[in-house]
Amino acid sequence: EVRVRFAPSPTGGLHIGGVRTALYNYLFAKKNNGKFLLRVEDTDQTRFVPGAEEYIKDALDWLGITPDESPWVGGSVGPYRQSERKEMYMQYAMDLVEKGHAYYAFDTSEELDAMRERLTAARVVSPQYNSITRTQMKNSLTLPEDEVKERLASGEPYVIRIKIPRKEEVRLNDMIRGWVMVHSSTLDDKVLMKSDGMPTYHLANIVDDHLMGITHVIRGEEWLPSAPLHVLLYRYLGWEDTMPQFAHLPLLLKPDGNGKLSKRDADKHGFPIFPMDWKDPKTEEVAVGFKEQGYLPEAMINFLAFLGWNPGDHREMFTKEELVEAFTVERIGKSGTKFDINKAKWYNEQYLRAKSDSELAAYLQEDLKNEGITLSSEKAERIAGLMKERATFPADLWKEGKFMLIAPTEFDEKVAEKRWNNDAVNVLSTYKGKINALDGDLDPVQAKSLLEESAAENELKLGKVMQAVRLAVTGVGAGPDLMEVFAIIGKEELSKRIDFALD
Ligand code: GLU
Repeated sequence: EVRVRFAPSPTGGLHIGGVRTALYNYLFAKKNNGKFLLRVEDTDQTRFVPGAEEYIKDALDWLGITPDESPWVGGSVGPYRQSERKEMYMQYAMDLVEKGHAYYAFDTSEELDAMRERLTAARVVSPQYNSITRTQMKNSLTLPEDEVKERLASGEPYVIRIKIPRKEEVRLNDMIRGWVMVHSSTLDDKVLMKSDGMPTYHLANIVDDHLMGITHVIRGEEWLPSAPLHVLLYRYLGWEDTMPQFAHLPLLLKPDGNGKLSKRDADKHGFPIFPMDWKDPKTEEVAVGFKEQGYLPEAMINFLAFLGWNPGDHREMFTKEELVEAFTVERIGKSGTKFDINKAKWYNEQYLRAKSDSELAAYLQEDLKNEGITLSSEKAERIAGLMKERATFPADLWKEGKFMLIAPTEFDEKVAEKRWNNDAVNVLSTYKGKINALDGDLDPVQAKSLLEESAAENELKLGKVMQAVRLAVTGVGAGPDLMEVFAIIGKEELSKRIDFALD
């Protein structure tokens, strides 16, 4: 059975790149009739941020990519928070020590700093604790066995480090990148157990993926450099046979393609980067999320799916179910993908327009409630139906359609300068008379023919005064079908507005 996991660390707001990772895991699991797990990686207590875990849950729920197993719904391989699994890790670290693949190290942070300084002074590019430096450090590989025992017995703080072999080619076959080969001399003797008794990400991640039966690790490319170390850990723990397959997703790039997408790009370009509003508990600063900006979950899913994947043909619109059907790892690209917010907007427009007028009317009614305006649902539907072609977000229905319910008090001066003239005044006066004389309600066909008659009676072509007519009634020079607008406004209000404009 396919089992994949999303393993966020609750260290802040879940960034949109993390949501993409979750989505790809979800799609892969569903495509293969497998399970999608969520594991909270909270072993680094210094970076723990309150509220971050709830935020992750709410964001995934909003997008409809709810995990099958998680801290919130449980599952057969729990607990699903690493902090609640604390006791499980030490035995594996000890196992590695016994097999000679890991060792105790007693270096103080001052000693480690001194080592780094020494190496930097010797022009070593990235100073490491590795097969060469470890011979100079205070660890169980360089100290006499008795001394190691004594230090441990006296309660001296220690960490456990992996012993990276000196000369070895480490390979892994990534599902996206193919064979990746790394020489062990470039790898650090990474810490596996910290002095506070907590495992590091590396150890906990491997132990948990193994114990939770994870078959495929799908994660961001920033983890690719750690993958060779993970391969060694699987090998040394004796789990290489069931090692998951790796798939490292391409980076999300800045809109201009220059480097990794960051929160600062979002601030600079004014687009959201968090799925929902994120309030930083330290600064109390709120970053506006996609949800609050009016992005629809189905649009987000479709947009995110295409950030690094494509179906191999020209189709662009995919429901979540269709994505599950079409999704394959083979069609995930190797190179980074530019984050194009206009594409997200485009998707939102498509999904907004696909909604029924009555669904859209509900959004409009919600905004109207806040404005203290009541409106019949019939009228709300007509406005929503007319405005949807011009809306990117649900809030645009009100923002852009306001003029249908509130008469203009100002008129676009540029349009007025160009279009307002005696001809327009004459046609509008004639028109007003015709509308006032009308018996029933005004419908778009009638609105049009009366207007044509009014132009003809003044010996004018309608086209010449049309924009002025629009200006008089709506205050601006462009908008949706004017005759529909007239019908929605109704004859009494229309007549009043013409009066006001002619005044
Ligand atoms: N906790 C890691 C993160 O925050 C998980 C990386 C992985 O999937 O292995 O992204």
